[in-house]
Amino acid sequence: MTSATAAERPHAERSASQLGHLTLCPGYRPRQTERTHWVTAQGTRGHAALDSGDMGELESGFEERMVRLCEEYAARFATDGAEVVNEFRVETIEGRWGYCDRLVINPEGDAHLFDWKFVWSKEVVDADVNLQGKDYVVGILEDPRFSRIERISVHFVMPRFESATVTRRPFTREDVPTLKLEILAILARAKQTDGRRWRGASLTPHYDACRFCGAAATCVALRRIADRIGRAYDPEGYGRTPAIPTQTHASLVTDPTERGQLQELAGLMETWAQSVRHHNLSAALADQANLPAGYVIDYPKGRRQVSDAEALIAVAAEFGISTRELIDAASVSWTRLEQLLRDRAGKGEKARQVTGFNARLEETCAVSRLEPTPRLVRARPATV
Ligand code: SF4
Repeated sequence: MTSATAAERPHAERSASQLGHLTLCPGYRPRQTERTHWVTAQGTRGHAALDSGDMGELESGFEERMVRLCEEYAARFATDGAEVVNEFRVETIEGRWGYCDRLVINPEGDAHLFDWKFVWSKEVVDADVNLQGKDYVVGILEDPRFSRIERISVHFVMPRFESATVTRRPFTREDVPTLKLEILAILARAKQTDGRRWRGASLTPHYDACRFCGAAATCVALRRIADRIGRAYDPEGYGRTPAIPTQTHASLVTDPTERGQLQELAGLMETWAQSVRHHNLSAALADQANLPAGYVIDYPKGRRQVSDAEALIAVAAEFGISTRELIDAASVSWTRLEQLLRDRAGKGEKARQVTGFNARLEETCAVSRLEPTPRLVRARPATV
């Protein structure tokens, strides 16, 4: 019924597919991005193939398999004489519209609506509560083209996981007023966030909405959360701009106050650098579109870990390395050893086990302490 591809079609403001996020937070805004994620591109090609029946644009056997799975799944619900309608536009409520992937209308008035989800995580909300499906159902049941439909079941098909979520009972025309009210409630709450005088008091941050939200970078609700965490981390220092001495080369600074300022900056830069690396990598792993310019993701060899200690000792011996030399070369993680003892100890015995173990190591001279390595720590005011 329409020839535009899923990627080219204009979408209504607060479209059916955004309703779930708007349910979690009324301020949710879709992200605008110029780059197309490879999963999205796969989905666009899959939708096109399911619409046209032409597999020629698919780029791999896996994509063909996903399309075939969708076809096979939908075929199970069609009876003799069924009418199949692909990729069509329906008008929903509040001047909005949406595009349905496939509608199968069986002669006896039973219909099945299919929405293809080429997503790479199983995060599709249960069909019984999924507002995207409900929005389309309202549009279909109120459309004169489909007046012969009496009942309609909604299927969200996830071919990547070979699974689907489907409504437990079909929607009927009697359900329409309730469905419209549910959608209206979500839209009305969301619309208030358009007002100029609105200040964000009713935002309801939720991880599953915020992580996809185009407004996250400037969101006052997320800022409040970040502030709260920051203050808990450092009640005195949070929000205070660190002083930067005029001379920043540590070997040329003699004033103790300025040395203190440099020490503080050094800690800050260390934390900042770790944070930059961590967040840049997490964002890039979640979505290649987030790769920092000029960087690629590298997968160096994983760190080696001992999987068979006895075999290691035997092989080392073959090469003339004694167990003692082996232990000297390997570094023992005391924290992990103590955790092991805690995990194995019975209730109320954990601390005693760890203390006993350390005391025994000292008694037997199994371990000794090296000279302490000096370091600077922040002086805390004395407590009384
Ligand atoms: S980032 Fe802000 S506006 Fe967006 S979903 Fe989260 S709380 Fe709502």
